[in-house]
Amino acid sequence: MIGHASSARNGRHEGIGGPREVSGLRQLCRRRTAGVRSPRRRARRASRRRASGGAAGPSEACRSRLSGARAGPGGLTVPRHRRIVVAGASLAGIRTAETLRDRGFDGEIVLVGAEERLPYDRPPLSKTFLEGQASLDDIQLLSGDQVAALDLDLRLGQRARALDPERRALELDGGETLRYDDLVIATGSAPWMPRDWDLYESIYPLRTAEDGLALRSALQGSPRVAVVGGGFIGCEVASTARRLGCDVVQIEPLTAPMARVLGPEMALACAEIPVAAGVRLVCGTAVEGFDGGARVERVRLRDGRTIEADVVVVGIGARPVTDWLAGSGVNVSDGVLCDDRCATSVDGVYAAGDVARWFNPLFEQTMRIEHWTNASEQGAFVARALLEGRQAGSYAPVPFVWSEQYGVKIEIAGVPHPTDRIRIVEGTVAERRFVALYEREERLTGVLALNSTRSMLTFRRLLARTGSRGERVDAPSNSS
Ligand SMILES: Cc1cc2nc3c(=O)[nH]c(=O)nc-3n(C[C@H](O)[C@H](O)[C@H](O)COP(=O)(O)OP(=O)(O)OC[C@H]3O[C@@H](n4cnc5c(N)ncnc54)[C@H](O)[C@@H]3O)c2cc1C
Repeated sequence: MIGHASSARNGRHEGIGGPREVSGLRQLCRRRTAGVRSPRRRARRASRRRASGGAAGPSEACRSRLSGARAGPGGLTVPRHRRIVVAGASLAGIRTAETLRDRGFDGEIVLVGAEERLPYDRPPLSKTFLEGQASLDDIQLLSGDQVAALDLDLRLGQRARALDPERRALELDGGETLRYDDLVIATGSAPWMPRDWDLYESIYPLRTAEDGLALRSALQGSPRVAVVGGGFIGCEVASTARRLGCDVVQIEPLTAPMARVLGPEMALACAEIPVAAGVRLVCGTAVEGFDGGARVERVRLRDGRTIEADVVVVGIGARPVTDWLAGSGVNVSDGVLCDDRCATSVDGVYAAGDVARWFNPLFEQTMRIEHWTNASEQGAFVARALLEGRQAGSYAPVPFVWSEQYGVKIEIAGVPHPTDRIRIVEGTVAERRFVALYEREERLTGVLALNSTRSMLTFRRLLARTGSRGERVDAPSNSS
C-alpha cells in the first residue's frame, strides 16, 4: 500500500512517538529557535551545501535567491536567511519540508503541528492499524532521526491561531509569533459531525491516531457496530469491523455505498462485496437521531426504522481546516483558494493537501482533493514553486485515490462523474477484478479499477496526457 511504502521509505525509529519522547524533541526544537546553531547543525549545513554543488542542487541564480540579501544600516548588504514556515505537520507539510531539503534549500524550515505526537500516516487508521496489525511506530511518517537529518524546527502540539501577512507573521496558540519569508498552509481537513452527536460516548469519528486508538479499543469484544456514511472511510471501517467479527450495519442515504463517486449503477454492483462479507446495508435513508443515555443504544432512521448498536462510527465528510485564517486576507471558499502554482491570494503564502482548492489546468477546473497521493504530490510541488518560482510550472495532476476493503484494492483516477457512461473493458464485477471507464460524450473522464493495479497505471498515464480533453478509448467492452 502506498501509505505503508512511505513509512518504509522513511524508515522507523522504534520507541519514538510517545508523549515523553515528543516533549524531549520539542525541547530540542525550542533550543534551536533561540538562534543558537549547534556545531552539528553547522556541519550538516556545510555538508548539504557541498552535496548540493552537483546537478541535483539549485542553480547559482536560485541559490542567491534562496539565501537572499537585504540592505542593512548604512547601505551594507547583510545576508538574510530565508525562513519557510509550514502550518500543519502531516503528509503535505512533511513532503514540502523533505522536498525543500532534497532540492538544496538550506534556510530555516519551521514545521508547526497541532497534534502532540510525531506525524503518522492516516490511511492505516481505518485498515491495518484498526485491525491491530500495525502499531503507531509502524505508521510513523517522520522519526526523530529524520527530524534531525532534515534539520527541521518541529513545533508539535502548537496550533497556528492567526496570520498577519503584512508583518509576515504567524501567531501560535501559546502567544508566540513566528516571522516567515514564505508560509505553507497544510492544515488538512477535519471530520464533519452534526452538533450534539459528539455528546454520546459511543459515537466515534476517525481522523487522528487518538480517534484510531479509541475506536480500536471500542471494537474489542465484537460489539454491534453502526457505520454512518458510505464514503471510503465508512466502507473501510465497516470492512475492518467485520473482519474483527463485529455485527456491522452501514447506513448510506444514496442507493449504495460509494455511489457519490462511482455512480448508482457501479456502486450497486460493488455493494455485493460487503453484503457477501455479512455487512447489512441500509441505503436510501439517513440518521434522524439516537436513543440511549451517555452511550447510544439505538440509531433512529428517517424512514422510521431503528438499528440496535453499541458503537457508532461516523464518516460523513470532512471540512478543510481554515477557521484560523479568518481576517487574514487569504481567500477561502471550501478550502484555501490557490492559483495553478498553489499560491494563495496573499504574497508568499501557499497551500497544499486536503486544505487547498487550486486551479488544475489539466482538467480546467478548481479542485480540492482529500486523498493521500494529492497531499504528497502537492506538498512536493509547493516546495518546487517556493524555490523555482514560475519555472516550477503548474500543478496539474490526475486525481487519484486508492482504498482497501474486504480484501479488494479499489483505485479511481481522473474526474469521473456519477452520470457518466460506464464501460467495463477488462475483467468482471463477479471476479472482483475489473477496469471500468467513465466517459462523457465518448471521451474518457475517469477510471475505476478493482484489483487491477497494472492496468490502472496505463490509464493514469493516458489521463495525464489528455486531461479534460478526454480521449476516445476503443478498447473492447465486456459486460458485468
Ligand atoms: C482514516 C483515514 C483513512 C484514509 N485512507 C486513505 C486511503 O486509503 N487512500 C487515500 O488516498 N487517502 C486516504 N485518506 C486521506 C489522507 O490520509 C489525507 O488525504 C491526508 O492525510 C491529507 O494530508 P494533509 O497533510 O493535507 O492533511 P492532514 O493529514 O489532515 O494533516 C493536517 C495536519 O495539520 C494539523 N493542523 C490543523 N490545524 C492546524 C493549525 N491551526 N495549526 C497547526 N497545525 C494544524 C492537524 O492536526 C494535522 O496534523 C485517509 C484519511 C483518513 C482519516
